[in-house]
Amino acid sequence: MTELHLFNSLTRQVETFTPVHEGEARVYTCGPTVYNYPHIGNMRAYVFADTLGRVLSYKGYKLTHVINITDVGHLTDDADAGEDKMEKMAAEKAQSIWDIAKHYTQAYWDDIKALNIRQPAHWSIATDYVPQMIAFAQTIAEKHCYELESGLYFDTSTVANYGALARAKTEDGEGRIEEVEGKRHAADFAIWRKTPAGETRQMEWDSPWGKGAPGWHLECSVMSEALLGLPFDIHTGGIDHREIHHPNEIAQNQARCGSDHSGARFWMHNNFLIERSGKMSKSSGEFLRVQLLIDKGFHPLAYRLMCLQAHYRSELEFSWEGLQAALVRLKRMVMGVAVVKSRHAASDDRNTDVAPAISTSLNDFEVALADDLNSAIAITTLETLIGLKKVNVEHQLSAITEMDSVLGLNMMTLTREDLRTRPKSAIITKDEIETALAARKEARAAKDFARSDLIRDELINKGVEVMDGDALEWDWKLDI
Ligand code: AMP
Ligand code: ZN
Repeated sequence: MTELHLFNSLTRQVETFTPVHEGEARVYTCGPTVYNYPHIGNMRAYVFADTLGRVLSYKGYKLTHVINITDVGHLTDDADAGEDKMEKMAAEKAQSIWDIAKHYTQAYWDDIKALNIRQPAHWSIATDYVPQMIAFAQTIAEKHCYELESGLYFDTSTVANYGALARAKTEDGEGRIEEVEGKRHAADFAIWRKTPAGETRQMEWDSPWGKGAPGWHLECSVMSEALLGLPFDIHTGGIDHREIHHPNEIAQNQARCGSDHSGARFWMHNNFLIERSGKMSKSSGEFLRVQLLIDKGFHPLAYRLMCLQAHYRSELEFSWEGLQAALVRLKRMVMGVAVVKSRHAASDDRNTDVAPAISTSLNDFEVALADDLNSAIAITTLETLIGLKKVNVEHQLSAITEMDSVLGLNMMTLTREDLRTRPKSAIITKDEIETALAARKEARAAKDFARSDLIRDELINKGVEVMDGDALEWDWKLDI
């Protein structure tokens, strides 16, 4: 098998993956802060982590994947300023934080499912680990932390090369404003945030530093150690985490295990999904969630394909046209697989003498993914495989299944009908469409073309596209 090469943000180089534990791969992914719905940019981070996990499984490693759910501690500014995102939303909605967390965790899990992201071995919930966070903080407090009125702070000058991941120095603080009075360095961050005197927070715990809540960075150090052991293989997150959150996690891990230990061997970051009109902002009215794509008539796997078409380290610009192109591409692949399946049903697999073409496709596929997860090329090899003729269809179908175990596009089960996603704006039922199409067929048989055109125009006005010559006959018109 081809060696797996992955880009390590720590060294800014592509390196050969060798596991910490023989035959295993242990991966930790920073999960969502569940104060609101995730936008499709957030979901790009999980499509990437899922693809990484699938590639590791494909390569034969026993995968243990952890994704955390942040339900405490994440402030409105990553650099330790502002309010707790969860507390703020709970106050705005006049609901309990626990209800807010429950609702948005479920919404996130719905998106995970819609995008065919595999379930990790553990969903670790931050509030389940507060005692362990306090215990962790106690082990590093004396040597690496100092106490202020507002909380316990990590002194970033106490570890070697603080901020190496971000390529930043302690003193420049990455342009942060020193929001907290008394902080020794701009980059120092809260390990424990005390509840201000006279206030009560919905979420607060007793600690040696008084009542309060853990700082956001602490949870990932604690949960990754608890569930994967230190060091583990790969830590992932969006590229914004390379600047503050992950350097802070690394500093905590160094404090706990020694300066040579960052916690994970590889730190990997997906680049951003960019959307220029601002619809991805959670504060915008109609913000870009997976459900919005579905409401507009897009099957969610078209978005997964859109993500996979770009390299995870490249920016990806979102546009409805781009998403539509991905949907059309997905339809073509699904129709291609249907053709292969029908050949299989007809036992049309006499010709086996071009089987090397299947092996070549599989090999190209593996080489592409081993090259720092080049999913864009991997998709083209799947398309080549689907398009192969005069090969043993049994082998062809099993090779498609194999490739799809990595790409997660549900190639073997998805049908053209499944991709006909009913938009929310639809004002006509399926039965009415079928009745209109039957009437149109009759009109055409009677050579009454005026009537047949009229029926077609009426359907178009109701958001239905009539597709003459297509076995599927009609499709919802995309609402873009
Ligand atoms: P959050 O819920 O804000 O902690 O973000 C969840 C994940 O989404 C993190 O890994 C972020 O780095 C990532 N992320 C945030 N915005 C984007 C974006 N526009 N494109 C890709 N990933 C993003
Ligand atoms: Zn994290």
